[in-house]
Amino acid sequence: MKTKIAVANGDGIGPEIMQAVLRIFEATNVPLEYEFVEMGKSYFDAGHSTGMTSAAKDTIENLGILFKGPMETPKGKGVKSINVTARKVWNTYANQRDFRTLNGVETVFSKAGIPINLTIIRENIEDTYGGIEHLLTYDVAVGRRIITRPGSAQVIRYAFEMARRKGYTKLACAHKANIMKLTDGLFLETFQEIAKEYPDIQSSDIIVDDLCMKLVTQPQNFQAIVLTNLQGDIVSDLCAGLVGGLGFAPSANIGDNISIFEAVHGTAPDIMGKGIANPTALLLSGILMLRYMGLTESAATIENALLYTLEQGIHTGDFGDRSVQSVNTNGFADAVIANLGKVPANGGVKGQANMQLKATQPHLSKNKLTVTRGIKEEMVGVDVFVEAGELQPNELAELAKKCLTDNFDLVMISNRGTQVWPTGSIYTELVNEYRVRFEKKPGTTVSQKELLHIAADFSEDAKVCSVEFLMKFGDKIGYTLAQGQ
Ligand code: NAD
Repeated sequence: MKTKIAVANGDGIGPEIMQAVLRIFEATNVPLEYEFVEMGKSYFDAGHSTGMTSAAKDTIENLGILFKGPMETPKGKGVKSINVTARKVWNTYANQRDFRTLNGVETVFSKAGIPINLTIIRENIEDTYGGIEHLLTYDVAVGRRIITRPGSAQVIRYAFEMARRKGYTKLACAHKANIMKLTDGLFLETFQEIAKEYPDIQSSDIIVDDLCMKLVTQPQNFQAIVLTNLQGDIVSDLCAGLVGGLGFAPSANIGDNISIFEAVHGTAPDIMGKGIANPTALLLSGILMLRYMGLTESAATIENALLYTLEQGIHTGDFGDRSVQSVNTNGFADAVIANLGKVPANGGVKGQANMQLKATQPHLSKNKLTVTRGIKEEMVGVDVFVEAGELQPNELAELAKKCLTDNFDLVMISNRGTQVWPTGSIYTELVNEYRVRFEKKPGTTVSQKELLHIAADFSEDAKVCSVEFLMKFGDKIGYTLAQGQ
């Protein structure tokens, strides 16, 4: 029985590499049927603001799996990237990218005999990718970085399950919780909590800059790493570089209802239409998809043929031995097809008989993540952000004191996160936006209205740019100290 999936050819080299990959699938008798959907640049140009027709959206939501070619986002038209929108709208919360040494793809590490086989799991929805940014003053832009406990739990649990499925023995959480104590701190705390459910997987954490150094010096020591969105984006391109570049980087965007499989690279406009693009990354993404759907036997057959082909030195123009004539996209696909049934020198991968197909039909999503309740909350103060470029910190403090009532203390003023009042250094340079922190006196209770009153009073003397409330959750302080505080 064949399962139907949605396929979008994409833009640029998309149709060329997609056709090559589907030809390999067909030659392998992969039990899939394809419904082609209308998505991409030409649909933006035709006036579909989301870059896809409503029929395409319905098909993808019905079938639950989208295999897609790269797509171009028109520049300067104010439209959002279709790739990012699709991942966010359909809540494909885990981005899995597999990187490994491929014989025939020469790298610094392959030459040194150091094997690489690692998986990056990147959170795909949250972080700075919410794109919530504001110019508070003409000189000061801020962006909101959203990390949530349920969102982190979803991707971290997926990472542990994936590690188990792949037979990995360890999973690391990379972060910057030493600096971003509340955002990365929450991600790390959630990781440590969930790790207790997986005693068979050795869990550890590593600061992301240390991770980058270790990845380029000893990549063989890593099996799987889970990260927040932006850090995961950067680290996964670093990993692509370790194994030969973007041409070998597949990607799966996994959600509970809809999953999207695509190459990491883009539309390669410089070589489109020439028929010379390398289809390997899309083929590897297709192999990830087959495994995800339980088609492990088909996945193994194709993977072995691909690895065997690469070992033979067959290559497209973007990689491989320059002294050996390259083949074009179709020639590469033909070679893989001719090698179906062959295994690479290392014995290849084994597929179990195709397992029960995963039910690809989306089940109607609960679409609300479980949130933690029952923690005692207390409002303890407010940070008022003001534009006051002409004032020195002590002058601003005098204005702030005018807003104080008996219940409050003026605790500190910071500029770009560094404390400048009551103490500071004359060497700290100032921009025109300050944070002024008011905290309630011990033993008092304050209302949100009182806190807003402070900001309103302050607005009579300075331009208030934004307001953040200071919260305590049980014993946990829900705000950070200023540097130097
Ligand atoms: P790109 O990945 O398209 O190209 C970078 C370089 O790599 C180019 O020199 C290109 O020729 C080469 N290259 C990429 N894929 C190749 C392949 N399969 N075979 C041989 N060479 C290959 O990156 P870009 O130029 O920054 O982006 C072009 C467009 O792609 C942009 O519109 C961007 O928004 C879009 N894009 C889409 C996705 C996606 O659909 N997921 C991802 C990245 C970029």
